[in-house]
Amino acid sequence: MKEIKVQTTSRTYPVIIGKNLISHLSNILSNIELAPTKMMVITDETVSTLFRDRFERELKTIGIDYFFHVVPSGEKSKSFETYYECMTAALTNHLDRRSLMIAFGGGVIGDLTGFIAATYMRGIPFLQIPTTLLAHDSAVGGKVAINHPLGKNMIGAFYQPHAVIYDIQFLETLPIDEIRSGFAEVVKHGLIKDPLFVDWLVQHVHHLQQLKEEQLLTFIEKGITIKAEIVSEDEKELGTRAFLNFGHTLGHALEAALGYGRISHGDAVAIGMLFALYVSNQTFGIDLGYERMKEWFQKIGFPTSVHSSISSEQLCERMKNDKKSVNNEIRMVLLENIGTPKLVNFDEKTIYSLLQQWRG
Ligand code: NAD
Ligand code: ZN
Repeated sequence: MKEIKVQTTSRTYPVIIGKNLISHLSNILSNIELAPTKMMVITDETVSTLFRDRFERELKTIGIDYFFHVVPSGEKSKSFETYYECMTAALTNHLDRRSLMIAFGGGVIGDLTGFIAATYMRGIPFLQIPTTLLAHDSAVGGKVAINHPLGKNMIGAFYQPHAVIYDIQFLETLPIDEIRSGFAEVVKHGLIKDPLFVDWLVQHVHHLQQLKEEQLLTFIEKGITIKAEIVSEDEKELGTRAFLNFGHTLGHALEAALGYGRISHGDAVAIGMLFALYVSNQTFGIDLGYERMKEWFQKIGFPTSVHSSISSEQLCERMKNDKKSVNNEIRMVLLENIGTPKLVNFDEKTIYSLLQQWRG
């Protein structure tokens, strides 16, 4: 078992990583000095089918009143409707300020539950129990949100959990596409902060099927350590936290242009990272090992180029409308070196021609 601390202005909390951690839930709650009156577990249909019985067995041993609220699987649950239904369930079950909400699922459940916890009675404690690899990223750092039909994550808050319990037993059932999606964020954490870790990944990870447990633990721990450091430095994204958007400028544009759900977040970010590496090479006149990275991405199954049905004009339009861009400029995180990120603003024309060159 490994514990990483996240220190923010509102709260310092542990991210605990290991196997079969939920059998220690009672101890974990007392270590973080939580003695809730009642617990509401929010989860999705898939996770509920797979793990509800196992989780309930543990909850029963704790001796605190609890109930489950199960929502449909997938991005559609980050909606006003699901938010409202969860709030109604919390109210009819008489949750009070000393109750605890538990997010048991992937990034969708974490974002949704976190936003409910942030706003129910002006804020009650919540725990993250992530069940996807991508959630090593989303469960840490306190960004919680639901979507508006006009934009993703548009209604949200910065609201930190009381703890993140990352029990890797839950990853065993994760489909390969979801593993790859989460792995892209692991690679991102390395590229913006740790060249040795990137080398380690390239040397040791040759395919994502049947990853060894120690490998999985190594890169989850590393990814979370890097994320925790960045969040502890800049909780509200006034500076360095923006580096976590490496690969996301083009990645988000691609997700939006193709239609959400048509490409996984991680696959889109993988393509975005290659483009960001290419732009870094061109901008700083260096070689960051673009070809090596591209070959490795291909080997482990990431797409490495934008589908020809999407035009560069479309992508530039989306990048310009990104909520992080200012004055119609396109803001990208580049690398001066592996591990040394830098924010650079471009005008649309420059990005358009770089995109065209890169696409060949
Ligand atoms: P997700 O929660 O939808 O999970 C992906 C799919 O895997 C779902 O169908 C889910 O039911 C299923 N699943 C979950 N656990 C499983 C398991 N153990 N075995 C088998 N199937 C399982 O999506 P995600 O990829 O975990 O997260 C994506 C979301 O995270 C997006 O909404 C994104 O905006 C958000 N996100 C948030 C942050 C943040 O900082 N808050 C960062 C990155 C991403
Ligand atoms: Zn991401």
